[in-house]
Amino acid sequence: MKTKEHTTQSTVYTIIHKWKEYGTTANLPRPGRTLKLTVEQGENWSEMQPRGPGDSGGTAKIYSSADTPQCPLCQKAGSLEHILSCCPRALADGRYRWRHDQVLKAIADAITSGIISSKHQQPTKLQITFVKAGEKPHQRREKGGALLASARDWQLKVDLGKQLKFPESIAETTLRPDMVLLSETTRQVLLLELTVPWEDRIEEAFERKRAKYRELVDQCRSQGWQARCNPIEVGCRGFAGQSLVRTLKLLGVRGLQAKKAIKNITDAAEKASRWLWIKRGDPWISHATQTQVGT
Ligand SMILES: [Zn+2]
Repeated sequence: MKTKEHTTQSTVYTIIHKWKEYGTTANLPRPGRTLKLTVEQGENWSEMQPRGPGDSGGTAKIYSSADTPQCPLCQKAGSLEHILSCCPRALADGRYRWRHDQVLKAIADAITSGIISSKHQQPTKLQITFVKAGEKPHQRREKGGALLASARDWQLKVDLGKQLKFPESIAETTLRPDMVLLSETTRQVLLLELTVPWEDRIEEAFERKRAKYRELVDQCRSQGWQARCNPIEVGCRGFAGQSLVRTLKLLGVRGLQAKKAIKNITDAAEKASRWLWIKRGDPWISHATQTQVGT
C-alpha cells in the first residue's frame, strides 16, 4: 500500500489533537474507561512517516484489523492494548524498553534544562523561624519547595546507554532507578522511576514502583540523606500522569517551562507508540538494553 502523502499531516494532527485534548481536560482515567483512540483510529498510524530504530521510511508493511485480527508477533488477539502494552514477544524484543527510553530521554532533557535555569534563580534556603517557648519549631522551604533551586551542585544520573550504578556513597544496592538526582553538599537525593503503561494501569504502576524503592529510600535516610522516590507514569498513548506534573512542580519546573516539558515528554510516548504500532509485524532491531522490564 502506498502512503497517502496528502492526508498524512492532517490525520496526524487530528489524532494528536484528540489525545492532547483528552489529556488536558481529564484527570486519571477511571478503571475500565477506555481512551478515545481505538484500533480503527490506530490504523491511521500506518499513514504516519516512520520514525525509530532502523527507519527505512515508508516501507513498513501495513496491516488492517480486517486482515490481521491476530497479533503478528504472538498470534494472540491483536488489540491496540495488546500491541502497545501486553505482547510478551514485543516485551522480549525490547520494543517497550525502547519506548521507555525515548520517554526517559525527554524527561532527562527537561530536568537538565531545569537545573540550568535554576542556576539563574536566587537559591532557596530552609527558613527556620523563631518560635515561642512551647510552640513547635516550623521549617519551611521558600517558593513551595523548588528543589532544584535549593542546591548548586545537582548531578543527574540517567540509566541510558551506560548502565546506572547507584552511588555507593549514599547506599549500596543492586537496584537501578531510571534516574538519580543528587546534591552532595546538601545531601539530598531524588530517585525517579519511569513507567510507560497502558493508561488504565497508571495508578497500579505508581504503587508498584513506590514499593520497589521504599527500602532503598529508608537506607539513604539512615545515612543522613534527605531521600525520596518519585515514580513517574506517562501513558503509552501520550497521557501525562499526575505523578509527572507533581514531580516537575517539586523540582521547580513551572509555567511555560513545565508546559513545554510535558508536551515533549508526552509527544515522545505517543510517537514511540505509533512507531511500535507501525512496526508491529516487522522484525525488531534494538540497541537498547533489555535487562530491565520497567515498561
Ligand atoms: Zn502479541
